[in-house]
Amino acid sequence: MLRKTLNDHDIKALREAIDAARNIVLTCHVRPDGDAIGSTLGLAKMLEAEGKNVAVVTPDTAPRSLWFLTKGEKLVPHSQYPEYAERLIAEADLIICCDFNDLKRLDALAPFVEASGAKKVLIDHHREPQAFADITFSEPEMSSTCELMFRILAALGLYDKMSRDAARPLLTGLVTDTRNFSVNCSQPDIYEILQRLLDKDLNKQEIVREALELRSLNSLKLQAFAISERLEVFEAHRAALICLDKADLDRFHYEKGDTEGLVNKPLEVRGIVYSIYMREDPDCIKVSARSVENFPVNKICKDLFGGGGHLMASGGEFHGTLAECRAVLLENMGSYDKYLPVRKSKKEN
Ligand code: 5GP
Ligand code: MN
Repeated sequence: MLRKTLNDHDIKALREAIDAARNIVLTCHVRPDGDAIGSTLGLAKMLEAEGKNVAVVTPDTAPRSLWFLTKGEKLVPHSQYPEYAERLIAEADLIICCDFNDLKRLDALAPFVEASGAKKVLIDHHREPQAFADITFSEPEMSSTCELMFRILAALGLYDKMSRDAARPLLTGLVTDTRNFSVNCSQPDIYEILQRLLDKDLNKQEIVREALELRSLNSLKLQAFAISERLEVFEAHRAALICLDKADLDRFHYEKGDTEGLVNKPLEVRGIVYSIYMREDPDCIKVSARSVENFPVNKICKDLFGGGGHLMASGGEFHGTLAECRAVLLENMGSYDKYLPVRKSKKEN
């Protein structure tokens, strides 16, 4: 029996909204991860089984690591099919937004969702959700949106009807957002959810290998290069920084997703409390941040890079050069020293 339960009123309102809808659009944040794709695809499968017209409209395409899930699925990336994506949104009578807390995270898709007269539902686990939806499920204590989605489906009484095809993307999001149950993994409920998903005849080993491990040789070499040649450690601030510019990325034929997981690597060093990765993308400098010991990297991302996220896993964007982005961080690093944990001992530091 799961310890935490959801608000009955919201569940009932969601049931009514689904019953009243014919055309349902599901959407998630730009540069989607396993949780974003997993939660939308899992819900899509459940709603399709109820006979609804369902479309998953994403701001952009999924990375290679998630193709094992998206293969054969009718995802509509706005970046690839703008007119079709905009028409689906215009024709929707229900839009369900998954795994983000602010319409800005929909990138170029945001104005179309905002302008739509459809009923809107938000299902998410980031703090401080923007109040744009008619029904909001916001559970920042939960490991993943897929965990929340599983609970919502269970509360709707749909667990028995959950197919393998619906369970598989949900398990993927649970696995990727917890990095295979190594972070955000202390709530006992998630192991019960894991068990109930595995009861749907899923191969967890395959999901872990596809979503978290497998990469191209170029990606492996780029990450090795980044650690060996681009990692800077700021001992006084117990911080690590990796900056990759366009030339670095081009050298290793960078493809979307190739540096997934890189920002976590410096945290393997005892004493490093937070790690920041800056990448020169065509449209902006993408910033990713991770930490340990409750150091609030979301604050750095919010204050300096117009972003946010979770306490220990967050991100943002910077509009300017990579050198300027790095300089902004270095100029301000000192003001976050007060959040560093007390040093345990000289040896451990
Ligand atoms: P990642 O570093 O994997 O891109 O993102 C880590 C976390 O930070 C995710 O929970 C993601 O939702 C959040 N995040 C990443 N980029 C942004 C951003 O530009 N704005 C906001 N608000 N959150 C972000
Ligand atoms: Mn998530």
